[in-house]
Amino acid sequence: MASQGSGRRARVGVLAVQGAVDEHLRAIRDVGAEPVEVRLPRDLAGLDAFILPGGESTTMRKLIDAYGLREPILALASAGAPMLGTCAGMILLADRIAEGDEPVLPLLDVEVKRNAYGRQLDSFEADISMPIIGEEPLHGVFIRAPVVSAVGPAAEVLAVDPDGQPVAVRQGKVLATAFHPELTGDRRLHRLLVAMVGAVAGERS
Ligand code: GLN
Repeated sequence: MASQGSGRRARVGVLAVQGAVDEHLRAIRDVGAEPVEVRLPRDLAGLDAFILPGGESTTMRKLIDAYGLREPILALASAGAPMLGTCAGMILLADRIAEGDEPVLPLLDVEVKRNAYGRQLDSFEADISMPIIGEEPLHGVFIRAPVVSAVGPAAEVLAVDPDGQPVAVRQGKVLATAFHPELTGDRRLHRLLVAMVGAVAGERS
């Protein structure tokens, strides 16, 4: 269950300025946690974990700055709240973005290349083995997905695509996937995020 030591439900924020927000809200509810839509800095108060969804990272980066969300999201991360970025959310969390874009919330020691799977692969699906969530492979839905073009020493690869390209990475309590786990009924990644909240609470007590 998605409870902390206190027994209350974990509150998981979803950046709700653009993109696949509703699917993440539903997934959070499905794993027994409380979803919170985040548009303004005040919406981040009291969150236990945070999700940056898929969408269009150029639009999301503009809105993050327009609403003054950059600093408070970074503060939430440094307070130890687990984070999950999916697709565009992974781009927002990358330290390095190939071809000139400035990083937005550089919390992951990786380089990403936007839309780099190529036109013919604009969208594809693949079964992905991700031992951290269990033996059963996860069905990965990739939509104009970023390629993880380099992984630095601080980050860890959690899963690769059928060609051996990293598609899920973690650095401490920050997780990111090139695919969209919220678009399938598989809730194991959301469950992992919420379990990490429990681990944070345990460390604090
Ligand atoms: N191509 C998008 C971007 O660069 C990401 C696509 C997605 O999130 N599904 O921001």
